[in-house]
Amino acid sequence: MGFLESFNRGLSGNDGYEFADRQVACAHCGGTAFDERSAQLNTMGLTFLDLDWANRSATVLVCQNCGHLEWFL
Ligand SMILES: [Zn+2]
Repeated sequence: MGFLESFNRGLSGNDGYEFADRQVACAHCGGTAFDERSAQLNTMGLTFLDLDWANRSATVLVCQNCGHLEWFL
């Protein structure tokens, strides 16, 4: 259990992120070290998709290993 708990503490560090109670792993290489960015969606025309609840911003995690982007609203 200690292995998983170590990731719960990594929300603002480089040792892992969790969204919806699942650890984020890169879809391409499986890495768990990410750089966090935020992205504004107000120029992407998503209002018609009823995404106003997301405050028109997204969290983007950039894999430090391969550069793959993981998007979270
Ligand atoms: Zn990766």
